[in-house]
Amino acid sequence: MKNSSFRVALMPGDGIGVEVIEACVAVLEKLQAGGSGFALAFDCLEAGAMHYKASGTAMSDETFRRAAEADAILLGAMGWPEIRYPDGTEIAPQLDLRFRLELYAGVRPIRALPGMPVALADPRARDIDFVLLRESTEGLFASRGRGELIGDSEARDTQVITRGVSERLFDFAFGLAADRKARGGKGHVTCVDKANVFRSFAFFRKIFDERAARHPGLSASHHYVDACALDMIRRPWDFDVLVTENMFGDILSDLAAGLIGGMGFAPSADVGDKHAVFQPSHGTAPDIAGQGKANPTATFLSAALMLRWLGERHAVPAAVAAAARLEGAVDAAFGSGTVRPFDAGGRDGTGSVTKAVIDRL
Ligand code: ATP
Repeated sequence: MKNSSFRVALMPGDGIGVEVIEACVAVLEKLQAGGSGFALAFDCLEAGAMHYKASGTAMSDETFRRAAEADAILLGAMGWPEIRYPDGTEIAPQLDLRFRLELYAGVRPIRALPGMPVALADPRARDIDFVLLRESTEGLFASRGRGELIGDSEARDTQVITRGVSERLFDFAFGLAADRKARGGKGHVTCVDKANVFRSFAFFRKIFDERAARHPGLSASHHYVDACALDMIRRPWDFDVLVTENMFGDILSDLAAGLIGGMGFAPSADVGDKHAVFQPSHGTAPDIAGQGKANPTATFLSAALMLRWLGERHAVPAAVAAAARLEGAVDAAFGSGTVRPFDAGGRDGTGSVTKAVIDRL
């Protein structure tokens, strides 16, 4: 068993990112208080749009080095509409982290929380519990910063699918499905693509089939992305693990978050072979920043993903148990019917949601 002390790089970022990370640190401090069997040491790092405005750099080399040396990275959100690079693009060092740390597996769990609103009236919507796995280092995003403008008459961005990354992504997807199956899940992986039109997606699907054949204990199927979007509204309770390309995953994960009450409830993890970044799926929400209205739940659930990942990776069962405790406290807080964040139509701000969760730890 490894030393059960973990160094966590905190990158609050901008807007409500700062608010939800502050709330999350309070929850994590409570979780590790009183002989929990693991310890977290935080290293708070500055990066993002405000940092760019103040210093001319979105994320310094030193900050990147410290983040890369940490056992895990917990990030709030980064970017601000009015602060942009000279070429007009937004400040998004969190995307650079995904590329530079090779975080190919974007894990987006979608689970209906007790007591919180779901978008669909069908009673089965309360059973929604699936994971969207978004490849996060290539696909159409490989063209980020490299797109081609031909005069003022044409623009091109090229999609990249590689065998190496796809194999690791699909193996990750089947590993996830196996873990979920062990906890009562369906053990099913669906490859979401557009293999009927694009050569790159036909290649993606071919590699998926090759890797699926190595997992006879799990079932596998394909779905075209357009039909998948339709079924995400028609029968999302049937999904288990969905695996897809970067851009499709970007779009579908927002749609999926809408099923379970919105971005304030949607956690995420971007995982590679050596590093991982955990952050809520939402952005900096400039419209509500600084008002204490941000829902910190997605960040709490992201922190639970972080604790589970650290615990499993370093064989520290106490951290895995803490992840389950945190998820249980979130469920209990909302299940009580006494807490309702603003984005769920209630009047509970960041502070009272945080207090409700801490009270149940
Ligand atoms: P990005 O492009 O970085 O994803 P965005 O500005 O498109 O960001 P978000 O910031 O994710 O989108 O959120 C869109 C809207 O959803 C926000 O303006 C805000 O009103 C609401 N929202 C997002 N996250 C939360 C949250 N945690 N709590 C409450 N409301 C939220």
